Amino acid sequence: MKQEEVYEQVKERLMRYARIDTQSAEYTGHWPTTEKQKDLARVLKDELISIGVSDVFLDEEGCVVYGKVPSNVQDTQVMPIGFIAHIDTAPDASGTNVKPWVLENYDGGDIVLNKEKNIVMKASDYSNLKMYIGQDLILTDGTTLLGGDDKASIAAIMSFAQYLVDHGDVKHGDICIAFTPDEEVGGLARDLDFERFGAKVAYTLDGDHLGWYEDETFNASEAVFEFTGRSVHTGTAKGIMINAVDMAAELMAMLPKKERPQYTEGVEGFYHLISCESDCEHARVRLLVRDFDHDNFKKREDFLKKCADKLGADYGDERVKLTIIHQYSNMKEVLKDVPFMIDILKGAIRKAGIEPVCEPFRGGTDGAALSFRGLPCPNLSAGYENAHGRFEYVPIQSMVKNVEILLNICESALAIADNA
Ligand SMILES: [Zn+2]
Repeated sequence: MKQEEVYEQVKERLMRYARIDTQSAEYTGHWPTTEKQKDLARVLKDELISIGVSDVFLDEEGCVVYGKVPSNVQDTQVMPIGFIAHIDTAPDASGTNVKPWVLENYDGGDIVLNKEKNIVMKASDYSNLKMYIGQDLILTDGTTLLGGDDKASIAAIMSFAQYLVDHGDVKHGDICIAFTPDEEVGGLARDLDFERFGAKVAYTLDGDHLGWYEDETFNASEAVFEFTGRSVHTGTAKGIMINAVDMAAELMAMLPKKERPQYTEGVEGFYHLISCESDCEHARVRLLVRDFDHDNFKKREDFLKKCADKLGADYGDERVKLTIIHQYSNMKEVLKDVPFMIDILKGAIRKAGIEPVCEPFRGGTDGAALSFRGLPCPNLSAGYENAHGRFEYVPIQSMVKNVEILLNICESALAIADNA
């Protein structure tokens, strides 16, 4: 691979994509959650066509962009392999009026993002900076996020596709590409049409730190407790009043104190209270249940059911209602049946000169949902840093490396026959 050729492409692309506001939003009640994500989707569709990618399609309603670089090996059927990145940026920080700029040959010191507003990224606050001394960083003006999450991945996948189209001598099977909306707000690639996409297995590209990957996510559900009380004047309440606030408080006291996000790490699970709205008549407690281990996860849900039973026994079953909403499952359960995907991924990262790092992801990915819908889908890091905030940045060299990793994946995937 010619590094300089790819360098200019990924740089130009991320700078251009970053300027397009694609912030998603929580709880809008419709998908995609914001119309403006389609602004970038249209640009990506046109760009895929202009670089010569086949079967380009924009699902205008779902805001999903598709493309394919068809196989150029004749004698064998190679398994079609997919690459997916997300279009939206996080609601946590502004994505409007992003002004990306490049700091070449970073010297390891503090970085002045905005002279006028005196916004400085201190090397002492962000220890990840020292990994990138001598590299070229794309930064913001300190007032918005950059959106390298996940546009660094879109830039890498687009440049990788262009490389395959421009270099017909690089042999590969069908390479399927998709860009999807709303990853940051739990969209879970819901509108990705597997038939149109055409891949049998895929990789999402997302996450920080170059060379990291994930083949494991939480099992996840949301539990909602509804308590119905009986309100009456406090002066005459004896034997009559039933206070829903008490029920909510008793529930919260039953939860194990050390099993909260702030006390857990690694593969430890937790209960997380999201909210509690309560008055005497009615209380509603919402909490997240998370665990990597499937049996432990079920035990956690069972524990909540026991809490509901206990409160029901004390206050009346009709006054306690528990609803458990399944969110996503640990993708390892699916990925253990396709071990070649992780072998290929690790080999591809190593071949690019980077030591692969795998950590269980303490959250969910679109890939977790896709895996359970039938498309096994581990995650490769995008290489951005400080995502979801104003100090986000992307080393250009990390995007170049990711293009190289994708090419390495293609090469190794040639050995995987499509026998389905
Ligand atoms: Zn992301």
